[in-house]
Amino acid sequence: MILFQNAKIFDGNKIISSDSVLVENNIIREIGKNIKANKIELKINVNKNFLMPGLIDAHFHANTPNYDFYSSDRYPKNYIAFHAQNILSDTLKRGFTTVRDAGGGDIGIKMALNERLFKGPRFFYPGKAITQTGGHGDMRNSEYLETCGCAYDGNITQVVDGEDDMRRVVREEFRKGANHIKLILTGGVSTNLAPIDMKHFSDAEIRVCVEEADRRNSYVMAHCHTDEGALRCVQLGIRSIEHGSLISSKTATKISKSGNFVVPTLSAGHLIEKNSKQLGLSNQSLQKVKEVNKKRSLAIQNCAKAKVKMGLGSDLHGREYLQSQSRELILRSEHQENIEVLRSATVVNSEILQMKDKIGVIKENAFADLIILNGDPLKNINVFNDTNKNVSFILKDGQIIKNLLT
Ligand code: ZN
Ligand code: ZN
Repeated sequence: MILFQNAKIFDGNKIISSDSVLVENNIIREIGKNIKANKIELKINVNKNFLMPGLIDAHFHANTPNYDFYSSDRYPKNYIAFHAQNILSDTLKRGFTTVRDAGGGDIGIKMALNERLFKGPRFFYPGKAITQTGGHGDMRNSEYLETCGCAYDGNITQVVDGEDDMRRVVREEFRKGANHIKLILTGGVSTNLAPIDMKHFSDAEIRVCVEEADRRNSYVMAHCHTDEGALRCVQLGIRSIEHGSLISSKTATKISKSGNFVVPTLSAGHLIEKNSKQLGLSNQSLQKVKEVNKKRSLAIQNCAKAKVKMGLGSDLHGREYLQSQSRELILRSEHQENIEVLRSATVVNSEILQMKDKIGVIKENAFADLIILNGDPLKNINVFNDTNKNVSFILKDGQIIKNLLT
């Protein structure tokens, strides 16, 4: 058993008055003051520092080694797997003890993690993201003359047309253990594949997708930038609206009433705009990114005002750019109170992942995923600027991943 003492504890919702946490194997056993227990193997004096649940990134990509999505979709699978290993183990060392993959992550990664071939965060995956012919994520360029999407076998996305095809593919992903389904509902920002306001899929196709996910007690997350797309998500039962960059106040109210979630992704746009040349972005894409970045803030404010449940996701690609993964919290704090940002990265994300009370919380019987920070992010969220230095301790599933305290 591990006993944490003398801690300032943020339980995922608020600061609590207790100062000690007892962990037995991979479970939080007790929270209180002056906890007494036999068989304590390790006592950790947190020294009044900040103890909180491990961070959750609800929009993550393990299988894209870089921002060249066309290549990522075509790289040999073994090559991708080595990148995924690096990406995931780095992520855990930053204090993210759980990630939700948003396209490409599959059972292979999960098996490797289960067998402890390497140390990574808890991994929730959708298999390949689902797009339509000619949609964002259809990685065949226009010179690619094969007419059938199924002849092209990409790593990240797959092309689906029609209700029957949708039903089959969604069932296939669940057969392969998917935790959720990723649907692409509007054009994207960082590619020229489809204009941002292009509506993807018929309502009937989306309904089939939602219905099949529902049948597996799961849900759909949808790539969706536009206001119209977000409204469709509410109407058609899509539970997790990704990006949500152009959500109006009217739509935000509807999302709030539906109880569905929005996962804004600020890091990606921020980083792409800053590094457009390095990333080889076309002028057309750069203009899209700039325009969307400007409007994103307003969408978050609309959602916050309407009390939409907002998760937190970085949507970064590749090991190098993921170094700024925790900057997502800092960018969000420009629009919300620090405490709301921390809740997004813990309890709200856990609810999105259907893991309420199991992860993202410091609560009896929850999994022992904990981090200790040098500094109080409620007062200064910039502690997340340097996770190497400021995340001094990481416990994932009861295993010590990092310990700079002893
Ligand atoms: Zn997306
Ligand atoms: Zn994404």
